[in-house]
Amino acid sequence: MRKKIVAGNWKMNLNKEEAYLLFNNLQSKSFPNDVMVIIAPPSIYLDSFSGATNIYISSQDVSGNENGAYTGEFSSQMLSSLDIKYSIVGHSERRQYHNESDDLIFQKTKMLIQQNISPLFCCGESFNERENKNHYNIVKSQLHNILNNLNASDFEKIIIAYEPVWAIGTGLTADSSDAQNMHSFIRGLVKENFGNKIADNLSILYGGSCKPSNSKELFSMEDIDGGLIGGASLDSNSFESIINSF
Ligand code: PEP
Repeated sequence: MRKKIVAGNWKMNLNKEEAYLLFNNLQSKSFPNDVMVIIAPPSIYLDSFSGATNIYISSQDVSGNENGAYTGEFSSQMLSSLDIKYSIVGHSERRQYHNESDDLIFQKTKMLIQQNISPLFCCGESFNERENKNHYNIVKSQLHNILNNLNASDFEKIIIAYEPVWAIGTGLTADSSDAQNMHSFIRGLVKENFGNKIADNLSILYGGSCKPSNSKELFSMEDIDGGLIGGASLDSNSFESIINSF
């Protein structure tokens, strides 16, 4: 049985006091046993939160390089030394504002896997790509490296997040059946490359303006195993209600 996961991406939000308040609030809650809850705070707070009990801590990114002269970056080895077990990689904001290519994202993915950190691997098409009915091709090309250049045991560490770029932070959400179709397409690609068992065990999360009012419907779809939540993860009540909506 694949895992149900709700992951909160705090992005570059919250000062220290606000971050602790939200973290402590989440720590005081009890979540359903069958839902894995992950938060990805800004990296500057990762160490402070690494002792969390009812939630897992994720990085929002990692360097594609080993340690060395890369000012401002941090390595997968450093994350591992903080006992961090998850990291988002390939988020559309990294692709868009930092020009991250599929090859760099794959390099980062391999760095994480080397340290036994599960990549929360993001993919998703832009508005124009969907309008031009090219969204399946785009997502397939974004997944090419992990589907074709990883062995099965490494691939099994991955969680995929399908996040249509036009839905991130915009208030627009993919129609649940459109999202389901893409999730099922992704699972089908995994099946072709790695077989039924690995495909059935893969958690595929939906991201893009997921909130308490739409999470129940999205999570009820057969191939949607949870969500990667941006804005709504900054409010503990909204985040909790999304976690409780399976
Ligand atoms: C995200 O950034 O991964 C995201 C899904 O953001 P939002 O929920 O705010 O659209």
